[in-house]
Amino acid sequence: MVIAVLALQGAFAEHQQMLQHLGVESFLVRNLEDWERHKDGLIIPGGESTAMMRIIKDENLFDPIREAIINGLPVFGTCAGLIMLDKEHLNTMDITVKRNAYGRQLGSFYTEDEMKGIGKIPMTFIRAPYIEGVGDGVEVLSVVDGHIVAAKQGKQLVTSFHPELNDSLKVHEHFIKMI
Ligand code: GLN
Repeated sequence: MVIAVLALQGAFAEHQQMLQHLGVESFLVRNLEDWERHKDGLIIPGGESTAMMRIIKDENLFDPIREAIINGLPVFGTCAGLIMLDKEHLNTMDITVKRNAYGRQLGSFYTEDEMKGIGKIPMTFIRAPYIEGVGDGVEVLSVVDGHIVAAKQGKQLVTSFHPELNDSLKVHEHFIKMI
Protein backbone atom coordinates (compact mmCIF):
# COMPACT_ATOMS: atom_id res chain seq x y z
CA MET A 1 0.00 0.00 0.00
CA VAL A 2 1.21 3.50 -0.88
CA ILE A 3 -0.26 6.75 0.42
CA ALA A 4 0.13 10.13 -1.29
CA VAL A 5 0.51 13.07 1.10
CA LEU A 6 -0.36 16.45 -0.37
CA ALA A 7 2.67 18.64 0.38
CA LEU A 8 1.80 22.03 -1.07
CA GLN A 9 1.72 23.69 2.32
CA GLY A 10 1.20 22.85 5.99
CA ALA A 11 1.85 19.85 8.28
CA PHE A 12 2.58 17.16 5.70
CA ALA A 13 5.85 15.86 7.19
CA GLU A 14 4.11 14.85 10.42
CA HIS A 15 1.60 12.74 8.49
CA GLN A 16 4.40 11.01 6.64
CA GLN A 17 6.02 10.19 9.99
CA MET A 18 2.80 8.65 11.30
CA LEU A 19 2.60 6.45 8.22
CA GLN A 20 6.23 5.46 8.64
CA HIS A 21 5.50 4.39 12.24
CA LEU A 22 2.68 2.23 10.89
CA GLY A 23 5.02 0.71 8.31
CA VAL A 24 3.05 2.21 5.43
CA GLU A 25 4.87 3.55 2.38
CA SER A 26 4.13 7.13 1.31
CA PHE A 27 5.29 9.91 -0.98
CA LEU A 28 4.81 13.67 -1.16
CA VAL A 29 2.75 15.38 -3.85
CA ARG A 30 3.94 18.83 -4.90
CA ASN A 31 2.93 18.84 -8.57
CA LEU A 32 1.09 16.97 -11.29
CA GLU A 33 4.04 14.69 -12.01
CA ASP A 34 4.08 13.47 -8.38
CA TRP A 35 0.32 13.07 -8.47
CA GLU A 36 0.51 10.67 -11.40
CA ARG A 37 2.34 8.03 -9.34
CA HIS A 38 0.36 5.03 -8.15
CA LYS A 39 -1.41 5.59 -4.83
CA ASP A 40 -3.99 3.77 -2.75
CA GLY A 41 -5.04 6.78 -0.67
CA LEU A 42 -4.46 10.48 -0.13
CA ILE A 43 -3.86 12.61 2.96
CA ILE A 44 -4.61 16.35 2.84
CA PRO A 45 -2.85 17.95 5.84
CA GLY A 46 -3.62 20.96 7.99
CA GLY A 47 -2.23 24.34 7.13
CA GLU A 48 -4.02 27.29 5.61
CA SER A 49 -6.86 26.34 3.29
CA THR A 50 -6.75 29.68 1.42
CA ALA A 51 -3.09 29.16 0.51
CA MET A 52 -3.58 25.46 -0.23
CA MET A 53 -6.49 26.26 -2.52
CA ARG A 54 -4.42 28.79 -4.46
CA ILE A 55 -1.46 26.42 -4.91
CA ILE A 56 -3.64 23.42 -5.82
CA LYS A 57 -5.09 25.50 -8.68
CA ASP A 58 -1.72 26.94 -9.75
CA GLU A 59 -0.32 23.41 -9.97
CA ASN A 60 -3.34 22.18 -11.97
CA LEU A 61 -4.07 19.65 -9.24
CA PHE A 62 -7.62 20.75 -8.40
CA ASP A 63 -9.49 18.78 -11.08
CA PRO A 64 -7.38 15.59 -10.99
CA ILE A 65 -7.62 15.36 -7.20
CA ARG A 66 -11.36 16.05 -7.22
CA GLU A 67 -11.96 13.44 -9.92
CA ALA A 68 -9.87 10.79 -8.16
CA ILE A 69 -11.79 11.27 -4.90
CA ILE A 70 -15.14 11.17 -6.67
CA ASN A 71 -14.00 7.97 -8.39
CA GLY A 72 -13.32 6.40 -4.98
CA LEU A 73 -9.74 7.24 -3.97
CA PRO A 74 -9.76 7.08 -0.14
CA VAL A 75 -8.87 10.45 1.40
CA PHE A 76 -8.12 11.67 4.91
CA GLY A 77 -8.30 15.42 5.54
CA THR A 78 -7.17 17.08 8.76
CA CYS A 79 -8.10 20.64 9.73
CA ALA A 80 -7.42 22.71 6.58
CA GLY A 81 -7.60 19.34 4.77
CA LEU A 82 -11.16 18.95 6.08
CA ILE A 83 -11.99 22.42 4.74
CA MET A 84 -10.54 21.45 1.34
CA LEU A 85 -13.10 18.63 0.98
CA ASP A 86 -16.17 20.72 1.86
CA LYS A 87 -18.80 22.15 -0.49
CA GLU A 88 -16.97 25.45 -1.01
CA HIS A 89 -13.68 23.86 -2.05
CA LEU A 90 -13.14 20.45 -3.71
CA ASN A 91 -16.80 19.71 -3.00
CA THR A 92 -16.38 15.94 -2.64
CA MET A 93 -17.94 15.72 0.82
CA ASP A 94 -21.47 16.77 1.73
CA ILE A 95 -20.44 18.98 4.63
CA THR A 96 -20.58 22.66 5.45
CA VAL A 97 -17.77 23.97 7.58
CA LYS A 98 -17.13 26.94 9.84
CA ARG A 99 -13.52 28.07 9.50
CA ASN A 100 -11.54 29.39 12.48
CA ALA A 101 -14.61 28.35 14.42
CA TYR A 102 -13.11 28.67 17.88
CA GLY A 103 -12.02 32.30 17.45
CA ARG A 104 -8.54 33.59 16.75
CA GLN A 105 -7.32 34.18 20.29
CA LEU A 106 -8.43 31.00 22.07
CA GLY A 107 -8.49 29.00 18.89
CA SER A 108 -5.90 26.40 19.86
CA PHE A 109 -6.47 23.79 22.54
CA TYR A 110 -5.92 20.19 23.53
CA THR A 111 -8.51 17.71 24.73
CA GLU A 112 -9.18 13.98 24.85
CA ASP A 113 -12.46 12.63 23.62
CA GLU A 114 -14.19 9.73 21.92
CA MET A 115 -14.09 8.99 18.23
CA LYS A 116 -16.56 6.37 17.02
CA GLY A 117 -14.93 3.05 16.15
CA ILE A 118 -11.65 4.14 17.75
CA GLY A 119 -12.23 5.15 21.38
CA LYS A 120 -10.73 7.94 23.42
CA ILE A 121 -7.91 9.78 21.65
CA PRO A 122 -5.80 12.94 22.05
CA MET A 123 -7.10 15.86 20.00
CA THR A 124 -5.04 18.95 19.21
CA PHE A 125 -7.00 21.83 17.68
CA ILE A 126 -5.15 24.69 15.97
CA ARG A 127 -7.32 27.52 14.62
CA ALA A 128 -9.62 24.68 13.78
CA PRO A 129 -12.85 24.49 11.84
CA TYR A 130 -15.83 22.44 12.86
CA ILE A 131 -18.57 20.90 10.75
CA GLU A 132 -21.84 22.84 10.88
CA GLY A 133 -23.96 20.71 8.59
CA VAL A 134 -23.82 17.19 7.17
CA GLY A 135 -25.74 15.56 4.32
CA ASP A 136 -27.45 12.16 4.43
CA GLY A 137 -24.42 10.12 3.41
CA VAL A 138 -22.20 11.51 6.14
CA GLU A 139 -21.55 9.65 9.37
CA VAL A 140 -20.63 11.78 12.38
CA LEU A 141 -17.69 10.19 14.25
CA SER A 142 -16.98 12.69 16.99
CA VAL A 143 -18.69 15.58 18.74
CA VAL A 144 -16.72 17.81 21.12
CA ASP A 145 -18.52 20.55 23.09
CA GLY A 146 -21.56 20.14 20.85
CA HIS A 147 -19.62 20.55 17.60
CA ILE A 148 -18.87 17.91 14.97
CA VAL A 149 -15.09 17.42 14.77
CA ALA A 150 -14.80 14.13 12.86
CA ALA A 151 -16.88 12.54 10.11
CA LYS A 152 -16.83 10.01 7.32
CA GLN A 153 -18.57 9.73 3.94
CA GLY A 154 -17.78 6.58 1.99
CA LYS A 155 -13.98 6.46 1.79
CA GLN A 156 -13.55 10.06 2.93
CA LEU A 157 -12.46 10.70 6.51
CA VAL A 158 -12.05 14.14 8.10
CA THR A 159 -11.01 15.52 11.48
CA SER A 160 -10.97 19.15 12.69
CA PHE A 161 -8.08 18.27 14.94
CA HIS A 162 -4.52 17.14 14.15
CA PRO A 163 -3.95 13.44 14.96
CA GLU A 164 -0.49 13.73 13.39
CA LEU A 165 0.66 16.01 16.22
CA ASN A 166 0.16 13.50 19.04
CA ASP A 167 1.60 10.07 19.75
CA SER A 168 -1.53 8.05 19.05
CA LEU A 169 -1.50 6.32 15.68
CA LYS A 170 -5.13 5.23 15.98
CA VAL A 171 -6.76 7.66 13.53
CA HIS A 172 -4.18 6.97 10.83
CA GLU A 173 -4.59 3.26 11.49
CA HIS A 174 -8.36 3.69 11.08
CA PHE A 175 -7.80 5.37 7.71
CA ILE A 176 -5.46 2.59 6.56
CA LYS A 177 -8.10 0.02 7.54
CA MET A 178 -10.73 1.94 5.53
CA ILE A 179 -8.54 1.42 2.46
N1 GLN B 1 -7.37 28.06 10.06
C1 GLN B 1 -6.95 27.25 8.97
C2 GLN B 1 -7.83 27.44 7.75
O1 GLN B 1 -8.84 28.07 7.84
C3 GLN B 1 -6.91 25.78 9.37
C4 GLN B 1 -5.93 25.59 10.49
C5 GLN B 1 -5.20 24.29 10.47
O2 GLN B 1 -5.19 23.55 9.49
N2 GLN B 1 -4.53 24.01 11.55
O3 GLN B 1 -7.52 26.97 6.71
